[in-house]
Amino acid sequence: MKFQKLLISFAIIIVIFIVNPSESQAANIVNPKQIYTYEVMVRDIEALAARYPHLISYKTIGSSEYGRPIYAVSLGTGDANLFINGSHHAREWISTNLNMYMLEQYVKMYEGNQTYGGYNVKDLLGNTTIWFVPMVNPDGVTLQQSGLSKFPKDVHSSLIKMNMGSTNFKRWKANGKGIDLNRQYNVDWANIKNNASSPSWKNYKGSAPEQASEVKALVKFTKEIDPEMTISYHTSGEILYWNYHHKRVYERNYAQAKKISQLTGYSLVKPGPYPAGGGYADWFVAKYKRPGVTPELGRYAGDTNVPLSEFDRIWNQNKYMGLYAASESNKLYLARGGKPKPKEVSVNIDSQLIKFDQSALLMDGSTLVPIRGVFEHLGATVEWIQATNTIRAKSGSTNIELKVGSKLMLVDGKSITLGVAPQVINNRTLIPLRAVSEALGAYVSWDGATSTVYIISPPIKEVEPPPAKDEDTLPADEQTQPDV
Ligand SMILES: [Zn+2]
Repeated sequence: MKFQKLLISFAIIIVIFIVNPSESQAANIVNPKQIYTYEVMVRDIEALAARYPHLISYKTIGSSEYGRPIYAVSLGTGDANLFINGSHHAREWISTNLNMYMLEQYVKMYEGNQTYGGYNVKDLLGNTTIWFVPMVNPDGVTLQQSGLSKFPKDVHSSLIKMNMGSTNFKRWKANGKGIDLNRQYNVDWANIKNNASSPSWKNYKGSAPEQASEVKALVKFTKEIDPEMTISYHTSGEILYWNYHHKRVYERNYAQAKKISQLTGYSLVKPGPYPAGGGYADWFVAKYKRPGVTPELGRYAGDTNVPLSEFDRIWNQNKYMGLYAASESNKLYLARGGKPKPKEVSVNIDSQLIKFDQSALLMDGSTLVPIRGVFEHLGATVEWIQATNTIRAKSGSTNIELKVGSKLMLVDGKSITLGVAPQVINNRTLIPLRAVSEALGAYVSWDGATSTVYIISPPIKEVEPPPAKDEDTLPADEQTQPDV
């Protein structure tokens, strides 16, 4: 008996595992509480893209000086871009842990339809794509974490020399060639202070700006994605650099920096008269006149990496940061003339959810749907006249004519003005659902809470109700009772 019970319990547990393998409950891919190596990062990026192919994709944007491909990962489907990066400096690799953990947490929130920190993650990532380059400096990180063993023998002695004669590389900030990648960007490069005179574990700005292959890759990638905003994660000290010579946008950026300071608890670094120059965010702010911030993660750690024991604290301080910046990015995108992304809408005809090959979209208050889907479901025949971009539909005795790009619809020869003209999106012609449905005699209602259009199709054939009949023809139980 006991054995049977045990067997049943096991069976139930197995059934639960088989029946419920949903993504939100699947084990996390990213473990941020480990010395997060380049190899682990690449493996995790591939696994995340495989698990969430509709939301996450990745590519390489160049290579490090020692030939390690530099990875960029995108999350979301928005037209506005936000750019987050980490590990410009080798010993600051806990910023890679944060990039990767943030990526996975946000994608899970999207899948789980979650609101987080007041942000509807699905809506947000539908408007803004977040691009991560979690490890800008894979050579430096590898040297800091694993020492000389991962580098060719013939460069060991020069690396040791750049490292003050030591084989302990915990202090290392530079790339594999002893160039400080955050002193390489072409902004006030000539005036960088405290420059090391030759390749070194820190502070050597190189012999020319944008000379390091890692920096070349980032400059090219930034031009390509044209981000609205950037967060360049460093360590340590729990402070935030945010201003760089941008009087024109000072007010806006200051307001954002204050908000980030509230979210993270990090102190704002007072803009000094002589900023250091050469940094990624500095360059971004100066070149694009858009906001770029450099948070320094973790309590001050000195000349080494921030310990992993700080990670929970770091995540807590930064968990809303990406979402806030994504939301700001979309605002900035719209403010400089970006087109708002149409919202997807569900269509329900006669209690049946209709699937279209191109999703129904909400534009300027009108729902647009692909032609064939809607006419067929409403029992109309449709004809497409290529030469004039005209759509003709017929249902019963009703004839409708629409034209791509025109707000005029003809219904049995009578013209009706549409809120939105029929238009071509993703090679499909979309037409305004309500106007067309009503012209065909259907009943249309809208549920804003679920973004669903409900349609009741017109009856196939309507007849007038029969004329009133004599009392004596009513069924017996409905006959008027005689007075008594
Ligand atoms: Zn740094």
